[in-house]
Amino acid sequence: MSVLSVVNLKAKIGGRLIVDDASFEVEEGDVFFLLGPNGSGKSTLLKAIVGYPGVEVVSGRVLYEGVDITGMPMEERVARGITLAHQIPPKLVGVKLGGLLRTLCKKSGCDHEELVNEMEINHLVNRDFGKGFSGGELKRAEIALLLAQRPKLPLIDEPDSGVDVDSIAVIARGVKRLIESSPHKAAIIVTHSALIARYIPPTKVCVMIKGSIRLCGGREIVEEVFSHGFKELA
Ligand code: ADP
Ligand code: MG
Repeated sequence: MSVLSVVNLKAKIGGRLIVDDASFEVEEGDVFFLLGPNGSGKSTLLKAIVGYPGVEVVSGRVLYEGVDITGMPMEERVARGITLAHQIPPKLVGVKLGGLLRTLCKKSGCDHEELVNEMEINHLVNRDFGKGFSGGELKRAEIALLLAQRPKLPLIDEPDSGVDVDSIAVIARGVKRLIESSPHKAAIIVTHSALIARYIPPTKVCVMIKGSIRLCGGREIVEEVFSHGFKELA
């Protein structure tokens, strides 16, 4: 069954066309990887799917669980279970990481202490979210926040960028858990290093170049891209 269908999507930011032509399908059990060079529009595409303010869909459709969500406000999409983990999580001044996780877990019914231990963020709980966090700490905290929301379809933007090998193992464990606890057993993961593929094998891989999805296939695409680069596909 189809979880998410993106059909001929075009999206603008500030009047400039960023997503030029995106079509793909995420089915039950799909670990969907979106690859592409910097600036190709991957983050904007994820934002368009979650209905981020400022990202204007000018044509095409997004269907989620069989419902057309293209014009739906972000809160409603999040309430339906589509949740985004940012490439660069915003700092939350005055909001302690531990308190935030506790509040989210109370709502979703998770064990926040278990999450804190699993993502190895015990030393960060009394600090403002994101303030002075290292790259790895920020990503581990962001994945913990996502886990605390128990999304049905997590959209994870570059979980593996700016983090060291030890953090990658922890982050991959968190991402695996996100997929296992999703009723659709599905996720969309944006990456341009594909280091995460060593831990979490994708079932589908698409490559986005200059705003368009140029190529889709299976795991072999990861090897192809990282042996030959994106240039041959441009
Ligand atoms: P990727 O995630 O593939 O690196 P992005 O979606 O972040 O690409 O960016 C694609 C293009 O959109 C870039 O040229 C970027 O400068 C532009 N862009 C992204 N966000 C904004 C914004 N808020 N305002 C203006 N331009 C933006
Ligand atoms: Mg990006």
